[in-house]
Amino acid sequence: MELNPFEIAKKQIDIVAKEMGLDPNITKYLKRIERALIVSIPIMMDDGSLQIFEGYRVHHSTVRGPGKGGLRFAPNVNLDEVKALATWMTWKCSLLKLPLGGAKGGICVNPRELSRKELEKLTRRFTTGIINIIGPDIDIPAPDVNTNAQIMAWIMDTYSMNKGRSVPGVVTGKPIEIGGSVGRNSATGMGLYFVIDAMCEKLSCKLESQTIVIQGFGNVGGWIASLLYERGCKILAVSDISGGLYHSEGLQIDKLLEWTREGNYLKDYDDDRYKLITNSELLTTECDVLIPAAIENQITKENANDINCKIILEGANGPTTPDADRILFDKGIHVIPDILANAGGVCVSYFEYVQDIRAYFWDLDRINKELKRILIEAFEDVYKVYEERKIQLRTAAYIIAVSRIAKAFDLRGIFP
Ligand code: NAD
Repeated sequence: MELNPFEIAKKQIDIVAKEMGLDPNITKYLKRIERALIVSIPIMMDDGSLQIFEGYRVHHSTVRGPGKGGLRFAPNVNLDEVKALATWMTWKCSLLKLPLGGAKGGICVNPRELSRKELEKLTRRFTTGIINIIGPDIDIPAPDVNTNAQIMAWIMDTYSMNKGRSVPGVVTGKPIEIGGSVGRNSATGMGLYFVIDAMCEKLSCKLESQTIVIQGFGNVGGWIASLLYERGCKILAVSDISGGLYHSEGLQIDKLLEWTREGNYLKDYDDDRYKLITNSELLTTECDVLIPAAIENQITKENANDINCKIILEGANGPTTPDADRILFDKGIHVIPDILANAGGVCVSYFEYVQDIRAYFWDLDRINKELKRILIEAFEDVYKVYEERKIQLRTAAYIIAVSRIAKAFDLRGIFP
């Protein structure tokens, strides 16, 4: 169980169901997904060989609105992982009071091994395979690990060509020129920033004097690193899939971002002052705020006792297992859960969707103001339940999210 993400997602439901005395019928319902589509994606490769990839799209719950969730391209993607990620999206949308449900998708592929032409063919064929279960009223994909605005543009185009009209609202995280939103690219990092700032205020400490360690230096890790660096925080260590860099006086994040945005790995960065460390060493580095922003199952019962920070801010989805959660709680480490901490991404995706449907676009100031308002409201809701019940922040966030789903379920009833 410990490392199967969907088993973890179900265990988290059990924990919250027990804490809040949830109706067993609703618990049963929440532990199932509404639907999953598995598609084979045959691609004629540049060398003339045929390769067949497997792709997934899962809807966990659409009881509060159309499905919403990212699409990841990675070699270890599997159905249970996508089911878990879809489930977490249901809670995230509910916690933020967005009129959306939980969905997720993925293709089991290493995109770094594909040419641009192969990647485009893969994306377009996958989109065609899932075309009947996506759309502005059904399920709206977005970027996730190893997918980006260009991939969203190909999805939008494929969907639109099939429908015979432009449908920008079918995906979010698109380029601005075709209906994307300003501020979407930085949104998850910006959301993490608002949340950690609010948490520091609660703990009466200054954000700028915190030391920071970040795992993952892509969209999420890169943006939060940059925002905290600009704020004056010392970023002691960062990592990507190749390994990490450490410097007790703090890393020069602007230079590292330039390096990785050119497609380089952190381990190849040449600076004598920086020590090369592994991802597991990074996670146990002493700091004030640890930000896992890569993939799930990074903080487990194996390393939870060695975690040496005051706050964990979950940039990634599912980086901490329930066993680790218990150990961290006993150690007095505050874990700001993924469904709150990294919800900035889905929040601005929602703004993009609204702007596409209305065909009226907002400026960055409005985006960031609305993002902050929604996230801080959710943060305050969670903090209140956390203080009242003396439970983990994650359980507090789940109680709020699950209560709203349960209410919607109750109001709608079971068809027929
Ligand atoms: P990304 O592809 O832009 O970056 C991922 C980073 O993690 C890269 O630096 C990569 O090298 C590193 N990485 C990948 N596998 C690793 C491993 N095994 N060990 C260590 N590092 C590894 O992806 P992203 O969009 O930044 O997403 C990161 C996480 O944040 C995921 O869990 C994703 O679901 C979550 N998330 C993303 C968004 C978003 O808007 N992009 C929103 C909410 C949550």
